[in-house]
Amino acid sequence: MDKNSHYRDRIKFTLKMKKEYTILSPAMAPIHFKILKPILLRQGFKIEIMDAEGPEVLQLALKYLHNDMCYPSMLTTGQMLATIMSGKYDPDKVAMVITQSGGGCRDSNYIHLMRKAFEKAGYPNVPFISANIWGLELNSGINLTPKSLLMALAGLIYGDMIMICSNQVRPYEVNKGETDKMIDKWTTQLGEGFFKGKGFSTKAIKKNLKEIANDFASIEIKKTPKVKVAVIGELFLKYSAPGNNHLEEFLAEQDCEVYVPSILGFGIYKTNGALEDLRLYGGNKAKKAILEVAMKYMFKMEDLLISAIENNPNFVPPERVNDLKKRAEGVINVGNSMGEGWYLAAEMLEFADHGYENIVIVQPFGCLPCHVAAKGMINKVRRIDPRLNIVDIEYDPGATRVNQENRIKLMLVVAKENLSKKKNIEE
Ligand code: SF4
Repeated sequence: MDKNSHYRDRIKFTLKMKKEYTILSPAMAPIHFKILKPILLRQGFKIEIMDAEGPEVLQLALKYLHNDMCYPSMLTTGQMLATIMSGKYDPDKVAMVITQSGGGCRDSNYIHLMRKAFEKAGYPNVPFISANIWGLELNSGINLTPKSLLMALAGLIYGDMIMICSNQVRPYEVNKGETDKMIDKWTTQLGEGFFKGKGFSTKAIKKNLKEIANDFASIEIKKTPKVKVAVIGELFLKYSAPGNNHLEEFLAEQDCEVYVPSILGFGIYKTNGALEDLRLYGGNKAKKAILEVAMKYMFKMEDLLISAIENNPNFVPPERVNDLKKRAEGVINVGNSMGEGWYLAAEMLEFADHGYENIVIVQPFGCLPCHVAAKGMINKVRRIDPRLNIVDIEYDPGATRVNQENRIKLMLVVAKENLSKKKNIEE
């Protein structure tokens, strides 16, 4: 038994499997995944993103998981089961990959429940790979080089950059489809670069980020006043279209500009949380030293990302995580790092200051961290900044899309009234 494993009989992903197996990943942030995929292909992994969604997927999850589980764990388990049952892949030649944040919330425990669900469903031999930076659940077949890890971080930063710029251009583009073509151009170009082992040095990142910003800024736009909405909340739901019932598309149909925060920011917040835990409760000195080095590197990358956006007056950059932390201080304890913790309250205040005072919080059913740190903070942040117009939307297997969209529409009624009041004052 692997001493790093919490699961007695887990099937490890071996070097031999690497050659023969297809690794299936849940669908999350499509722009980021398209850039990251070639890094794994280059390392000899065959990887595919699962696209199953809909009520049947959730029914499968409910059949094999306890219905008290949080919604992202339900959805990803259902997606995995639906994919393996679809007949598209040989069940004896697939592995599943899932991220494990290593924190105290259920995210750290999904993987064990998924194995049990697969066992019950008749697929006990499917290996589950934990993607994490904490050294949990080692597998001999997962031998990512430091270069690949640096590329993966660079890929996340590029994904953030493209997501942030494109979201601020697409609603105003004169020639429909130009922004999406630009996304395709950059995701393909960066992916090809990674496949050749290029594009991850600091110099290359700096150059590419600048060019991405300039390219998106060159798209012809017509700026008309629109309701600006920030989408915050639980990590998986925020980025996963199957998870949030295609929320970004819905908001675009309602003629809104949407801001979705960076994944890098969340990574820094999470690492900061681990360091904060070590400071508050003590712990392993070597782990602290590694985390501090990782943090330093991420801060450097954050600076590259934000500077590239700041240098371009067309775009609103995200705030630095250290500044967000200052916003949270006095509002919620910054030791509150379970799930999205203090980050949510800080983001609400941040967005109100940058013109995105309308906020949708995507909140999974069964998620205690989000209930405390999101729903529990709404009144408090509203007292601090009355401009905030917030709706928290709960996602669970029984919630209907129509109901969720109707609640968002109510929030948008207030947003539209506020927008026309602003226009009247300016005129
Ligand atoms: S933050 Fe909430 S929804 Fe996300 S994994 Fe943790 S418990 Fe589940």
